[in-house]
Amino acid sequence: MSGSLPNESEVRPTNFIYQIIDADIAAGTCKAPHTRFPPEPNGYLHIGHAKSICLNFGIAKYYQSEGYQAKCNLRFDDTNPAKEDMEYVESIKKDVRWLGFEWDGEIHYSSDYFDQLYDYAIELIKKGLAYVDELSADEIREYRGTLTKPGKNSPYRDRTVDDNLMLFAKMKAGEIAEGKACLRAKIDMASPFIVMRDPVLYRIKFAEHHQTGDTWCIYPMYDFTHCISDAIENITHSLCTLEFQDNRRLYDWVLDNITIAAHPHQYEFSRLNLEYTITSKRKLNLLVTEKIVDGWDDPRMPTIAGLRRRGYTPESIRDFCHRIGVTKQENTVEMSTLEFCIREDLNQNALRAMAVLDPVKVVIENFSNTLDEVLSMPNHPNRPELGEREVTFTQELYIDRADFREEANKNYKRLVLGKEVRLRNAYVIRADRVEKDDQGNIQTIYCTYDPTTLNKNPADGRKVKGVIHWVSAKFAKPAEIRLYDRLFNTANPGAADEFLSTINPDSLVIKKGFVEPNLTTAQIGQAYQFEREGYFCLDSKYATDDHLIFNRTVGLRDSWSEAKN
Ligand code: ATP
Ligand code: MG
Repeated sequence: MSGSLPNESEVRPTNFIYQIIDADIAAGTCKAPHTRFPPEPNGYLHIGHAKSICLNFGIAKYYQSEGYQAKCNLRFDDTNPAKEDMEYVESIKKDVRWLGFEWDGEIHYSSDYFDQLYDYAIELIKKGLAYVDELSADEIREYRGTLTKPGKNSPYRDRTVDDNLMLFAKMKAGEIAEGKACLRAKIDMASPFIVMRDPVLYRIKFAEHHQTGDTWCIYPMYDFTHCISDAIENITHSLCTLEFQDNRRLYDWVLDNITIAAHPHQYEFSRLNLEYTITSKRKLNLLVTEKIVDGWDDPRMPTIAGLRRRGYTPESIRDFCHRIGVTKQENTVEMSTLEFCIREDLNQNALRAMAVLDPVKVVIENFSNTLDEVLSMPNHPNRPELGEREVTFTQELYIDRADFREEANKNYKRLVLGKEVRLRNAYVIRADRVEKDDQGNIQTIYCTYDPTTLNKNPADGRKVKGVIHWVSAKFAKPAEIRLYDRLFNTANPGAADEFLSTINPDSLVIKKGFVEPNLTTAQIGQAYQFEREGYFCLDSKYATDDHLIFNRTVGLRDSWSEAKN
């Protein structure tokens, strides 16, 4: 399927993470790299996650190919039951596999470790390194201080170990109300790193958990859970995005102060930001719940599910992640980079077909209305192995309204009254006269065809430069064709608080067109190039045998960058 696309798995990434792993292998501190991808199941995966997936699973794949027992785990970071859902768990599994990766062994859940995490919390309490605090959330914030002002100690900080054990047990038993107590690490309220100012380790939440039901009413915080989960799973290189840089201190503090065999290392890389796109799950969720888009898999969404429905291939997304690389520099990638990758793929792999999006009727007056002529056309102009298809030429056709003018200068290389044009893979026709309705709109273009010109240039010295696409009015099938544009009007919609006000009202335009009848057997996942219109795929959500719907994946050229320049 990959045609002449560079196979990204054959090209060794040269990013700094690979250099660190190579050095660890050379130094003997790492025998086999073991990574993990740790999504929180509180939304669908998006293109930013794809970067992390390609990095983490890509490392395992690459080092396996070098003969190491490398692994990558899929771990659901499920410590916040209120926002999580099994629908998200299932979608994440599906999307990771669709991208072409497989996790090592069983799926892991942070919630698998709730018992162990609880025991480690007890260990910290016994060591005098954790305490039950009864300040309110607001007071905790107030006591925490700021970047320029040190925090101050909670009045509950110096409870005895026994009191702390007793209170923590009460928290666990459900005897303390939500918000009335939490467990905090006892580190340093004056630390220049705010995450080290006695971070909360456990909070009370009377919420049903999708994995553990109502077993627990206290839930561990991310910073406490993540490092311990990594250590339990023997992760060697724990890769996360740059906003967790400061948290690395806490990651190490926890592992240094509990009895656990492994001590993985955390490394940070810059997150993917894409122009005209948001990659915050909270904001994506809002687009769904406010019904601005048609679900997480709306083809305008930057989710993996949306991109798949839009017609992106796993190869194109992996290629994109390979091209943008992994660094520590924050930057924003242009949308045209992603579109370049899918065009590269589809130009090689999409089957050619004809569709008319804005139809106007053509009648070939010198062509019999009973003789239907079956023409053979290649499925791909330079891949004969993809075979041919049959398209029937008939007296009545449809062409696109934009492909005809009554008058035009010579820069217009399509059909003009009194002039000739070639119909793609068929004959040269000449437009003789038009018939209009009461409003003056053209209803029918009457033409004559030259029977000697089937896939040949006209003999008598006439030059016909223009080629337009067509479908048979007799055989073509009606189809809904959905044209997508940027979901937002601004390049950086995430920056605006009111990001919903930057929605592009024209991000979806629906055309009622006609497609060649071959497309009634279009398969989900098969890409088509509608000649001169772009790349399309059958909509996997709503298309039926009686109601064809095609999504435009991307146009043939980068008209966006062209318009910007
Ligand atoms: P949010 O906080 O909006 O819910 P998140 O980034 O915390 O999103 P997770 O589900 O925790 O989402 O992410 C799983 C993994 O994917 C993390 O390791 C995270 O760093 C990585 N990731 C998330 N977004 C991006 C991004 N835009 N670019 C690169 N990696 C990302
Ligand atoms: Mg997260």
